[in-house]
Amino acid sequence: MTAAAKRADMNDDQVLIAASKKQPDFKIKEMLSAGQKVFGENRVQESQIRWGETFQYVRKDIELRLIGPLQSNKALEAIRLFDVIETLDRMSLAKALVKAADKHGSLPSLLVQVNTGEEPQKSGVLPRQLPLFLRELKKEYNIIPSGLMCIPPQKEAASPHFWLLRKLTEDYGLQFTSMGMSNDFEVAVEMGATHVRIGSALFGSRI
Ligand SMILES: *Cc1c(COP(=O)(O)O)cnc(C)c1O
Repeated sequence: MTAAAKRADMNDDQVLIAASKKQPDFKIKEMLSAGQKVFGENRVQESQIRWGETFQYVRKDIELRLIGPLQSNKALEAIRLFDVIETLDRMSLAKALVKAADKHGSLPSLLVQVNTGEEPQKSGVLPRQLPLFLRELKKEYNIIPSGLMCIPPQKEAASPHFWLLRKLTEDYGLQFTSMGMSNDFEVAVEMGATHVRIGSALFGSRI
């Protein structure tokens, strides 16, 4: 499926994030030629090579979003590289980002990852801990995130998770809701996603 075709499935209210992890350069190039401007990457290092070297010539024209987990010791590299970090999930990471921003000059836009399925192996703030987390972010670092993101459990229907994430976004007066991947983005759009992150349905399977 092409970026243009995929975009036609959605209206202008949603941003399509091309999840480009583990995709070969020629496919990234095709996507750029098709006019895709927003890319999501999972790993700092892979992203540095791709957008800091290979496709550095288009870097200023695109929006780059980190959608994978971030280690605190990569905070500086991450804020140098990304326009948006979608995976803020703990206070220690907020601290590292703020410290890095003091050196770098500015903090990117931040989304809080919410572990809507309360899965032990998955990162993200638990829904019931979100109010406290948001309060602490504000109090300690004067951070107000621009939205929330989630990855629902693989073996469950996604819609209750999407519904919850949308509700939390609204309850806390935030702007963006990043949810929905290749298999469930239509549902996510129905439930109010502002951003969908699509990899394999857009690029084909990963290498
Ligand atoms: C890989 C990934 C995606 C895209 O997944 P697809 O199923 O290939 O669309 C979206 N979001 C995150 C956080 C991912 O890691």
